[in-house]
Amino acid sequence: MDQPRSEISQLGEFGLIDRVSKNFMLKNATSKTGIGDDAAVIDAGNDYLLVSTDMLVEGIHFDLSYAPVQHLGYKAVAVNVSDIAAMNGKAEQITVSIAISNRFSVEAIDSLYQGIQAACVNYGVDLVGGDTTSSTSGLVISITVIGRAPKDRVVYRSGARPNDILCVTGDLGAAYLGLQVLEREKQVFLEDTNMHPDLEKYEYLVGRLLKPEARTDIVAELADAGVTPTSMIDLSDGLASDIFHVSRASGVGFRIYDDTIPIDKTAYQTAIEFKLDPLTCALNGGEDYELMFTIAKSDQEKIKNHPDIHFIGYAHERKDENVLVTKQGNIVALRAQGWDHFKK
Ligand code: ADP
Ligand code: MG
Repeated sequence: MDQPRSEISQLGEFGLIDRVSKNFMLKNATSKTGIGDDAAVIDAGNDYLLVSTDMLVEGIHFDLSYAPVQHLGYKAVAVNVSDIAAMNGKAEQITVSIAISNRFSVEAIDSLYQGIQAACVNYGVDLVGGDTTSSTSGLVISITVIGRAPKDRVVYRSGARPNDILCVTGDLGAAYLGLQVLEREKQVFLEDTNMHPDLEKYEYLVGRLLKPEARTDIVAELADAGVTPTSMIDLSDGLASDIFHVSRASGVGFRIYDDTIPIDKTAYQTAIEFKLDPLTCALNGGEDYELMFTIAKSDQEKIKNHPDIHFIGYAHERKDENVLVTKQGNIVALRAQGWDHFKK
């Protein structure tokens, strides 16, 4: 008898994770939070340990024709540290697993690890293990990060409450536009190998894609200001998509205002150049690795002058109502487009 066959693309990444994880119950008292947040939470006595894994796959997450392998090493660590920051924790250790094809030289692997080391120094984390194997296709880097936080300091996706203020750090959409620039220049180069791209004008955008930083600075500054976010997530999928993650986990809806969404000037101009809507890039671009968090209204005063924290909206009780309010006063339903590798 024929086995039924369903396409993974119909489920999408999150549908697939829900499907494979639904029959797994947590058995150990030390497993405080399993699947569904930026990191798992494990009771380690005085503190909670935070554990998260992120994998980067050649041809899916990066293209070695324009991503220098050293930057790739740095980014692989940074995106993991970012998940620990999103739990309001401090990353302490990583393990690094690589699958390499014979296209790679020893020198290329050296460069990869130079990037990994630079990130370890920058974020104060120790490389404590990993695994090495060969790959018949491309390069795969999988990093697991272990972090720590005092029990009462861990921040989940589920803690947003009605009337909380929604905040984002930095600016949004630049990494996506950096990718558009690199893809365009790659095509130009493929058509004429004498053409060498002039990327100076787009340096910021390309840097946002190839060398993202985890916002550990924000975690420290919020603590200094005496603010504990009520919920937090790092923006890897795109603002709209990540709003839905927090909305679903917290059981609240969000109303955001288009004129408060931070967009860098070059990102804005480049979007126009590519005939893209800058706001759509900011909402759906992904890979910004900024933090999005909610705070109690009473805490807003404490961070209102922070130059890199933007108040973009607020939470309300209607959990199915995630909307964007335009300058003209129109209300538009948000859609979670984001990155979904299975749907490409
Ligand atoms: P993030 O974007 O913060 O890295 P993901 O969207 O990758 O998080 O994952 C969402 C949640 O699903 C996380 O809790 C992650 O640990 C879990 N998860 C992802 N893939 C799997 C898998 N194959 N098996 C079990 N859990 C998974
Ligand atoms: Mg995350």
